[in-house]
Amino acid sequence: MSSSPRAGLRLMHVHAHPDDESSKGAATTAKYVAEGVDVHVVTCTGGERGSVLNPQMDRPEVWENIAEVRRAEMDAARDILGVTQDWLGFVDSGWPDGDPKPPLPEGCFGLVSAEEGARPLIRLIREFRPHVMTTYDENGGYPHPDHIQCHVVSMFAFEKAADPEYAPELGEPWQVLKIYYHHGFNRPRTVAIVEAMRAAGLESPWEERLAKWKEDPAHDARITTRVPCGEYFPVRDQALLAHATQIDPDGHWFAVPLDIQQKVWPTEDYELVVSHVPSSTPEDDLFAGIAVPAERMES
Ligand SMILES: [Zn+2]
Repeated sequence: MSSSPRAGLRLMHVHAHPDDESSKGAATTAKYVAEGVDVHVVTCTGGERGSVLNPQMDRPEVWENIAEVRRAEMDAARDILGVTQDWLGFVDSGWPDGDPKPPLPEGCFGLVSAEEGARPLIRLIREFRPHVMTTYDENGGYPHPDHIQCHVVSMFAFEKAADPEYAPELGEPWQVLKIYYHHGFNRPRTVAIVEAMRAAGLESPWEERLAKWKEDPAHDARITTRVPCGEYFPVRDQALLAHATQIDPDGHWFAVPLDIQQKVWPTEDYELVVSHVPSSTPEDDLFAGIAVPAERMES
């Protein structure tokens, strides 16, 4: 067997903003890339309305060129993760601040129809021909309008890309075999990490959040798939740091020591939503039930 036992397999992650590919499922990505899987990241928006969350980057020249800066950050993260990447080209909706929430800005991603949003994604699916896709759940993972829209558009594209009658001008139909939702920020993981931090006598950044986070066993039970990827957490962290405007190196992302994360929760977690191959859950591999394509094994 070659050092790339899974060459020929393809994984597509659909994300809302540049940095989401590094904060959700990035260690899984690094693991599959190391095994020879081609991983393609699709970024729906340019992140133009994101804030600068790192005090060190909160400078006028960064704000003036935020779209370009975020593009360069994405390029760096892409290279660290070893993926290819495309932009869908939609405009960030921004986080609607206020009570009641203000209307979304005209022309933003959150306001496009599922059909309009899915068109460029269907084209990319039919070109890249992924065996597996990931996206967010119906709540967006967290309720940013672009994350919810990412879910809507991904599910629409997943279905329509396989339909030979649908938009033939976007390419030959392609059936993605499995689609997953990210559930990396689940409550049981947070509990485990907070408890391990307490046991180690460390202050946890999640105490307050956990105190407000109601138990929801039905939601926790949606996790079907835990991908062991602890040894790739350092790659995830490097990719996150590449998004310098979005990630404060002294902030909560890096407050939990790596060895604690690797010890208490060495997986990234997913929900298998649709499978067109026989597979049984729980599972520990996004490609469970999918054979390495024969055409690539010969070469
Ligand atoms: Zn996002």
